[in-house]
Amino acid sequence: MRWVIVSIVLILMTACQQEDPKSRKVEMYNASGDMVGTASFNEQSDGVNVKLKLEGLEPGFHGIHIHEYAKCEGPDFKSAGNHFNPTGAEHGLMHPEGSHLGDLPNIEADAGGLVDADLMLPQTTLLDGKNSLIKGDGTSIIVTQDEDDGMSQPGGNSGQRILCGKLTKSEAEDEDREGESPTDPTQYNDKQEE
Ligand SMILES: [Zn+2]
Repeated sequence: MRWVIVSIVLILMTACQQEDPKSRKVEMYNASGDMVGTASFNEQSDGVNVKLKLEGLEPGFHGIHIHEYAKCEGPDFKSAGNHFNPTGAEHGLMHPEGSHLGDLPNIEADAGGLVDADLMLPQTTLLDGKNSLIKGDGTSIIVTQDEDDGMSQPGGNSGQRILCGKLTKSEAEDEDREGESPTDPTQYNDKQEE
């Protein structure tokens, strides 16, 4: 029983430190470094919902996956590593021993190259835990040139990685990583003791 209470307290503490730990808006970039849309992540009772708004894609189906590192170094985005797979499963939503928790259904770009998709990542979370998408330094979301066949190892034969976005603990983390916490010099100074 005690660990349940401790967990609840930890979750509440985490919730107090961030504006909204249950949602993240991730900017998506192509290999040239142009921002081409967003992926909005929202915590739900059965996993994490992802809403995608993208432009400039070739019409047709494309693969999309969560990858294990929050590193989007173009042009090939190999820095993001393999698919997010904390359970040690095989790749593919149609594989009998699948799937990676980072595997998602293919998305379709319309004739104008636009994507407006609503997807689910079952069993994952934006909060703490083994299957957390923001554990450690976080993860990334990558769109591929070709569609995922749902079966082939290790990545569904889905071709080049063409878009990448970083999912990290704090949206301000990248700009702020080296910085110190902002302080108000007029506050508390009188009361501090050396
Ligand atoms: Zn996979």
